[in-house]
Amino acid sequence: MAPAELRYDGQTVVVTGAGGGLGREYAIFFGSRGANVVVNDLGGSFKGEGGGSAAADKVVQEIRSAGGKAVPNYDSVENGDAIIKTAIDNFGRIDVLINNAGILRDVSFRNMKQQDWDLIYKVHVKGAYKCAHAAWPYFRKQKYGRLISTASAAGLFGSFGQTNYSAAKLALVGFTETLAKEGHKYNILCNVIAPIAASRMTETVMPPDVLEKLRPEWIVPLVAVLTHKSSDETGSIYEAGGGHIAKLRWERSKGALFKQDDSFTPGAVAAKWKEIVDFSDPEHPQGPANSMELLEAAAQLPPSPK
Ligand code: NAD
Repeated sequence: MAPAELRYDGQTVVVTGAGGGLGREYAIFFGSRGANVVVNDLGGSFKGEGGGSAAADKVVQEIRSAGGKAVPNYDSVENGDAIIKTAIDNFGRIDVLINNAGILRDVSFRNMKQQDWDLIYKVHVKGAYKCAHAAWPYFRKQKYGRLISTASAAGLFGSFGQTNYSAAKLALVGFTETLAKEGHKYNILCNVIAPIAASRMTETVMPPDVLEKLRPEWIVPLVAVLTHKSSDETGSIYEAGGGHIAKLRWERSKGALFKQDDSFTPGAVAAKWKEIVDFSDPEHPQGPANSMELLEAAAQLPPSPK
């Protein structure tokens, strides 16, 4: 099915941090494709200071004037229960949750203050947890849910001055991968995206000609496909930006096996170092069981009961 035909009629979509940037694009898209939209935004600065209702209200107005259905919510994602309650009170259900709200407190690790660390954790990790946890019982009961959380290249690869943000963003990968496993039998699909797009977050670090090629609306098609009822993708990581979309996965070198006896010494490890870091014949593990199977196959663990 072509992306232009994807619709969400009768579904309720909650988008956190939808007062601007990427969240606004998602909200407007879902509003234009038949969904009831909860436009959540605290309305503060990109550093997480201040707040207000204007940002969310403006997006709600945009959706309504285009004929869509939307309501605002001004809570911090730390109060995820209140955000999901807005969906239930107004539309009676929740089908899709986009954990998108975010802030930055960039500072070199040497100069990082406890508050910089804590605030980033609270908005990105605790916020995603609180919203997902409040939506989860509804997803389970109706045997349907679509959850997107927002990571970042900074989390996947590291980025100077962003230890707090990187840690929080990679936390959402583990969060998503576990939720995908727990949600699978209830048709709750959970994925994580690492976008790159022009927004107030990136406008101070990238030149205008680059930003023009990274329009936030170009992240929407990926989110639309992953949250559609026709999708069966779950537990995956995607990078998206500037018209490019790609999937990421873990890669493990074949590695080296050591006998479980006195010969397993640091010297033995050093001698096999090239084998340990050799990616010429890699594997792509998808769960902890894969590591156990490897040891079982090499008779380093007893076979697990079938
Ligand atoms: P943005 O600042 O334009 O949008 C973030 C929105 O979240 C803002 O409207 C803000 O008011 C809202 N928000 C902040 N704290 C909140 C809270 N506690 N509760 C509710 N709302 C809150 O930035 P953006 O670039 O659109 O970022 C969207 C998401 O994408 C963020 O999670 C960000 O970390 C992530 N991201 C963006 C990029 C990029 O290139 N723009 C790259 C990687 C990751």
